[in-house]
Amino acid sequence: MTKTTYVTEPFLPPLDEYIPYLEQIWENKRLTNNGPFHREFESALCDYLGVEHLSLFTSGTIALVAALQALRITGEVITTPYSFVATAHSLLWNNIRPVFVDIDPVTCNLDADRVEAAITPQTMAIMPVHCYGNPANVGQIGQIADIYGLKVIYDAAHAFGVKYRGESLLRHGDLSVLSFHATKVFNTFEGGAIVCPDAKIKQRIDYLKNFGFANEVTVIAPGINGKMSEIQASFGLLQLKYIDRVIARRGEIDGIYRTLLQDVQGIQLLPAPEHTQRNYAYFPVMVGPDYGLTRDGLYQKLRDNEIYPRRYFYPLISSMPMYRGMPSAEQSNLVEANRIAEQVLCLPMYPDIENDVIEKIADIVSGAA
Ligand SMILES: *Cc1c(COP(=O)(O)O)cnc(C)c1O
Repeated sequence: MTKTTYVTEPFLPPLDEYIPYLEQIWENKRLTNNGPFHREFESALCDYLGVEHLSLFTSGTIALVAALQALRITGEVITTPYSFVATAHSLLWNNIRPVFVDIDPVTCNLDADRVEAAITPQTMAIMPVHCYGNPANVGQIGQIADIYGLKVIYDAAHAFGVKYRGESLLRHGDLSVLSFHATKVFNTFEGGAIVCPDAKIKQRIDYLKNFGFANEVTVIAPGINGKMSEIQASFGLLQLKYIDRVIARRGEIDGIYRTLLQDVQGIQLLPAPEHTQRNYAYFPVMVGPDYGLTRDGLYQKLRDNEIYPRRYFYPLISSMPMYRGMPSAEQSNLVEANRIAEQVLCLPMYPDIENDVIEKIADIVSGAA
């Protein structure tokens, strides 16, 4: 029987290496609330990522919600419809109105040239996504934000470890939010973090994730419980020892796919982003009109062969019931995003995938199987 291949499979370090961490937790009985592993993981992540400050969370979504609260964002926020639902949901959870702007079809990121036209007196921030780990147009977005006095919060859920022009991509904007969900390049089962430029904002974020407590008797805001436990933090420390190997193997897989698929009629690969040290979070292909099958036809053909790719991102956030009535969600405003969402297919990409499985997938896509 052939094994089913999913779009991703989480990387797990050897179990016996995790046991000593658990023994230490059992020994000192610190389970959560900024425990020793939590502090050590925050500092190890700052070193690894090359950022000044970071606050750990239970998930990327809670981190997004808290990031908006930390900067006191209200009114309208400009964002992309081409993302995972959590990006826009974090706005609705804060009673903020998302304003969707179309994407650049080459990078699949927010089209910075269209941002200015979407700004209104209610606009307070821009929330771009580094889609597939490829850098958003940080230069132009930063300039627009400076001119109009807007905040920028990057949804960097795909961008763990990515470097742009020699430094961490997470250093751009006012805040960047990471996800350590099981399906991401770096996982702590569930988890996330807010990367922040200074200690003052980190302190506010740390209060917010702990119900708003500044000390035993002072509550400064209606905070939430977003604290990462010692189980996850210690696991993250162990995962960090393997992340360079994980990303290197992903790079190898990206190379194999590119070699095997570059000349397939009707299949377009995303160009590698410039000036970027990548993390190879996903392997999206665009199934164009001159391919022999529709995108969904290829999707089904792969499934018939026990290969389960995913249509990231289809359907578009802007087409979901809680968004589709909004003026900015109209198809005519989001032509490129709608087109790309109909063409995209993300092929299996994870460090433990075997080369012969990659070849089998490429054979199916290229019509040789
Ligand atoms: C995964 C993801 C999130 C949500 O992160 P969780 O840790 O699963 O809550 C947010 N935005 C994007 C773009 C994601 O891919």
